[in-house]
Amino acid sequence: MFDDLQKRLSGAFGRFRVRGVLTEQNIQDGLREVRTALLEADVNLNVVQDFIAKVKQRAVGEQIIKSIRPDQQIVKIVHDELVALMGETDATIRFEKTGPTILMLCGLQGSGKTTTCGKLARMLALQGRKPMLVAADLQRPAAVEQLKTLGQQLAIPVHAETGVGPVQVCQNGVAAAAKAGCDTVILDTAGRLHIDDELMEELKTIEKKVKPHHVFFVCDAMTGQDAVASAKAFNEALELDGVILTKLDGDARGGAALSIRQVTGVPIKFMGIGEKLDKLSPFDPRRIAGSILGMGDIVGLVEAAQSAIDAEEARKQQEKLAKGKFDLNDFRNQIGLIKKMGSVKDLVGKIPGFNAIPGLDLDSVDADGDMKRIQGIIDSMTPAERADPSLIDISRRRRIAAGAGVEPADVSGLVKQFDAMAAMVKQMAQMTFMDRIRTLTG
Ligand code: GDP
Repeated sequence: MFDDLQKRLSGAFGRFRVRGVLTEQNIQDGLREVRTALLEADVNLNVVQDFIAKVKQRAVGEQIIKSIRPDQQIVKIVHDELVALMGETDATIRFEKTGPTILMLCGLQGSGKTTTCGKLARMLALQGRKPMLVAADLQRPAAVEQLKTLGQQLAIPVHAETGVGPVQVCQNGVAAAAKAGCDTVILDTAGRLHIDDELMEELKTIEKKVKPHHVFFVCDAMTGQDAVASAKAFNEALELDGVILTKLDGDARGGAALSIRQVTGVPIKFMGIGEKLDKLSPFDPRRIAGSILGMGDIVGLVEAAQSAIDAEEARKQQEKLAKGKFDLNDFRNQIGLIKKMGSVKDLVGKIPGFNAIPGLDLDSVDADGDMKRIQGIIDSMTPAERADPSLIDISRRRRIAAGAGVEPADVSGLVKQFDAMAAMVKQMAQMTFMDRIRTLTG
């Protein structure tokens, strides 16, 4: 996977190693090579520029970890940004409660669409679903027979018929599935060698008349930016729910995997990693970033060092809390630690049962925005003000507010809130363990 890109990138990382320190100059030189490597791997130009800017910003601003060489730290930054570029993805398919769930697969000829229909049917059958395949690719002469053969191999029913058009085949297929007690229908639609109006019209009619619950675009990772361009065109015509990237086991260049999400906004849901029917997996951006870089050990090393620092930081905070000492500097560090864990909304959303609380609408609470604002205000204070907020008089309040882009009243609000919190921390520090629990739960 991604052999060429991997070779080029490891050359680029060598640049960062010069003399063991990161300077503007060697960051610049190294990133220039990363940029060329990505462009040669056929990654979209805008995506590359954005990516390089993000890596540079982080490389310059990142806290230096003593036990880690700067070039290793850059590998980790590039790794994280590659993962972010491809986007975290959720490959679960939401199934309908009543009637069969209809999945429509579309894509250009040769992308691996028919094979992927078989792979997906197999995967879903293993999850306990009862799929039916529908042979609606009446363009490629051998497609219907190919799907029938796949169905036989997998012992999964295939709906195929002659003498009617593709829309009718799909409609009859859905009816046949319902009759046969199948709960999932997978439509193998027609592909062409190139995008043309006739193909798009056919697919749009199927979408309108058959109303698939999910539309997936199958594309070949070896075709780089061509795959991205066709994903864009299909998404304009059909509103795709996801992309299935095939042939990642082959001579994939990286361009498609790294550009599709950013250019189209459509998540990559699954990846094909071989011709055989069991070679389909949920798309895993970490695994792809890992194979692009081929430096999993370094990424692991930096992660371990980073989490050791975080643990040390958390321990120091704990000690201060226990002593009843807690100032705005500590508060700011706490926010930093929380932010590393992800967005507040996601964190809260992950707590089991939280989503079920009546009246709780996570979207209406802008916890991440609030946190950013609070951090902005604290950042505009001097260390002395953070250590002793009582120093903040009217003129200092105005200065801080201007620096953070908020109103002076917001600054006093934050200081008041903080005072209340610090008072509670102090009180808690003087309590026994059981008293603390009572205060928190009572
Ligand atoms: P369709 O025209 O889009 O229906 O394409 P097919 O399903 O017939 O696939 C075209 C070719 O790609 C076939 O030779 C498949 O075996 C091959 N293929 C499909 N998916 C993968 C994959 O993930 N990896 C590899 N190496 N080959 C694949």
